[in-house]
Amino acid sequence: MSIYWQKEMETMNRSDLARYQAEKLRETVRQATKSSFYGAALKQRGLAAEDIRSLADIDKLPMTTKEDLRQHFPYGFLSVPRDAVIRLHCSSGTTGNPTVIFHNRHDLDSWANLVARSLFSAGARPGDVFQNICGYGLFTGGLGFQYGAECLGALTIPAGAGNSRRQIQLMKNFGTTVIHAIPSYLARLHEAFREMGADIARDTKLRLLVIGAEPHTEGQRRRIQDLFGVKAFNSYGLSEMNGPGVAFECECQNGLHLWEDAFIAEIVDPETLEPVPEGVVGELVMTTLDRQAMPIIRYRTRDLTRFLPGDCPCGRSHRRIDRITGRTDDMFIIKGCNVFPMQIEKILMAFPEIGSDYLIVLETVNGVNEMRIKVEVSPNWFTGEMEPLENLRRRIQEEVRDEILLTPEVRLVEPGALPKPEGKAVRVQDLRTREGE
Ligand code: ADP
Ligand code: ZN
Repeated sequence: MSIYWQKEMETMNRSDLARYQAEKLRETVRQATKSSFYGAALKQRGLAAEDIRSLADIDKLPMTTKEDLRQHFPYGFLSVPRDAVIRLHCSSGTTGNPTVIFHNRHDLDSWANLVARSLFSAGARPGDVFQNICGYGLFTGGLGFQYGAECLGALTIPAGAGNSRRQIQLMKNFGTTVIHAIPSYLARLHEAFREMGADIARDTKLRLLVIGAEPHTEGQRRRIQDLFGVKAFNSYGLSEMNGPGVAFECECQNGLHLWEDAFIAEIVDPETLEPVPEGVVGELVMTTLDRQAMPIIRYRTRDLTRFLPGDCPCGRSHRRIDRITGRTDDMFIIKGCNVFPMQIEKILMAFPEIGSDYLIVLETVNGVNEMRIKVEVSPNWFTGEMEPLENLRRRIQEEVRDEILLTPEVRLVEPGALPKPEGKAVRVQDLRTREGE
């Protein structure tokens, strides 16, 4: 058995795990107090590490927001001397200015261990050939998976993002068995296989996919699995909590185990900040438990999910979260309706006639805000004939209207017609000149 099946930790009973977390939380608060941000925040509340006696005491601690990280950029959260820091990462800045996270040696080892453990839980093994198809550099998916997969003992190919033909060449040359990529890229990679007349089952040794870094629906996952003929496992992480290796699907594919020896997760109502009942969707709030250079306490991720009830047949006791349904700041309001992009994706993915790419455009036409959905038709289905296209268009429009109670304009476009960003998919383009509704 590999050392990345960490049975004692991964299957620890819940009460021992809670005691372990309380101990690590106390240690984390002690460490965080050395930073100027938490030093001041805890002093103001008259709190010290010794006030954390059990896990329940976490609610004495203040929450931390992305804005706090931005305001105290770059060193306000640093809890070790600057010269103990050996790496930094920045978030990709999807929703504004980036934030920076620092790591010391301990932090990087701990992170690599979590990624290795996660990959193992999804079925990757030492000896696998792991092709990491994502941006290297400040984005954590690159180096995060690189060191994690090396730690597992996989031959790890730092393939980087894009250039599908080269990716396919690498897969063939080195017998790639596992790929990590963002879900929106995989349809493109598959298209490149088709163009090259290559066949995944015949020409490669691929046996599993790891997909993450951006929201996607169960329907999107199924499509990817069908295209590649292998299972795709959901990987969740964010730079503020290292990056990948926060929560990961095990071989049962029934939600993502969140590593509770390294993080405390809370799910709260984003308005009241009170915990939601188990099973209810709310905002994920996370605390690092094993980070020294830059511990973060009760970080509001803005990601929406819920804890899944019940035990997992794999035996791991760490709680599972549901796939992320979106971010609190993803939601847009149009004509008084609140819409999450994943609501639209869910509908679109149920139509086999359409491809994987779509774009929601919000714009002001004659002083009125309108929503238009551009959808790529599947290359397998696209003939250019008008009547079936018009039928399909109408059916999509009706289903979206039933879901969000607003009739959007739906425009079908040819396969490959929508813009393909290098990094994470952009699902909403807001061109409205009239504020709000
Ligand atoms: P940024 O916040 O600038 O995009 P990160 O690279 O740190 O920077 O991205 C982390 C975010 O990506 C998460 O907070 C979440 O919104 C999204 N994300 C990561 N993994 C997943 C996943 N498996 N499913 C859905 N969303 C994900
Ligand atoms: Zn499991």
